[in-house]
Amino acid sequence: MSFDQEEAARLREWDAAYLWHPWTGKTAGDPLMIVRGDGVRVWDADGREYLDAKAASLNASCGYSHPHIVAAITRQAATLMHFSIESAANPPAVGLAAKYASLLPTALSRTFFCNSGSEAMETVVKLARMYHALRGEPGRQTILSLRDGYHGATLGAVTATALTLTRAGNGPLPGAYAQVPTPICPSCRAAEAHDECSAPSAQTLRAAIEEIGPDNIAAFVMEPVLGVAGCLIPDPAYLVAAREVCSEYGILFVLDEVLTGFGRTGRMFGFEHASVVPDVLMTSKGVTGGYAPLAAVTTTQDVYRTFADDSLMGGFRHGHTMSGHALACAASLAVLEVIEGEDLVGNSARVGGLMLDELRRVLAGEPHVFQVRGLGLALAVQMTDAAIADELAAACLELGLIVRTQGSAVCLMPPLTLTETDALTMCSIVAEAARLTAQRNR
Ligand code: PLP
Repeated sequence: MSFDQEEAARLREWDAAYLWHPWTGKTAGDPLMIVRGDGVRVWDADGREYLDAKAASLNASCGYSHPHIVAAITRQAATLMHFSIESAANPPAVGLAAKYASLLPTALSRTFFCNSGSEAMETVVKLARMYHALRGEPGRQTILSLRDGYHGATLGAVTATALTLTRAGNGPLPGAYAQVPTPICPSCRAAEAHDECSAPSAQTLRAAIEEIGPDNIAAFVMEPVLGVAGCLIPDPAYLVAAREVCSEYGILFVLDEVLTGFGRTGRMFGFEHASVVPDVLMTSKGVTGGYAPLAAVTTTQDVYRTFADDSLMGGFRHGHTMSGHALACAASLAVLEVIEGEDLVGNSARVGGLMLDELRRVLAGEPHVFQVRGLGLALAVQMTDAAIADELAAACLELGLIVRTQGSAVCLMPPLTLTETDALTMCSIVAEAARLTAQRNR
């Protein structure tokens, strides 16, 4: 199906004149105009077909145009697009909250809905501080996070994120945030040759807590796999130790599974790799598969009950017009049916494992490839520097594969519906792109 070329030209003009792209910079100019998607493939306005390993910003867990999800959204739109859940309810929001409870460990059974990962982070900040204040510890304000973590773009979320590219120019930032060392080998992170890996342990978290004073700390938040930092994979032992340290000091242990939740890492949730249960869980992307904006903060009934003591409101002083949006929740319920019905979590583990082995095989000896890493369908090819990573990504695009660069890492996070055949095609495109990149940099 071809896209009208006059319409495409007009859209390009309007794009250049009117649309403000988020995180502008690299996409300014002549961005890819994607007009259609089906499964793991998308098509641009010129009719070119691409395999998508970026999955609409790591969202499209079930691929594009999945008929079961499209039908559920259509049905819900024709029935009730939304009814605010402030002091009422709508069936998809209630159903999705119950579905979360059935998928998560028993302790995590109370879910608050919002609309983006960043809003989930803001929700956590307010929830954690109010929780401690209501329990008589108003001094517990500080939000701890990892130095390389990414938690969103809104003011609180960007303050919990110390990555220069996201934070620079955003001052003055709100107070009572601090970062601790990321549990990743610094030489690996810097793509520097080294004999032995050595990553900061949870002792560094403990030391930071002691220095700030445990009575000043509300929550510690981390991602089980650091996606935006370039798919960095901490040792699960760190999560276990961090969980223990947080319990010991009465600090809420928060896992940001906006990226990792719902099958991305080959388990339903990233925390399953470490067998830990957080006090608070943030999810977004994979739960709607990109079909609608939705995020969730799930916590324990104990945390929830604390808010009944709020003398001002008898509840959580926080919410959004679109919290529990019926259309988004209906989309999520259908996405979860697909994830379970098609065993996409198992597929993510299987095809992700195959891709990791194949990428390592085809990229062995490539001069600018420093490391290939992955967990499930969260994979990255670590290049020796960011300019080379950009070149590799551009070469992939020329060859029909969309990838995402994060600094010097080229990330591949395709839909969880990926077949072995398409996975191998993606790997051979990356190999060819690496060969071309090496040739161009000889
Ligand atoms: N947390 C994590 C781990 C993320 O990967 C992201 C987005 O990439 C966010 C939070 C922010 O989500 P959003 O872009 O929906 O605000």
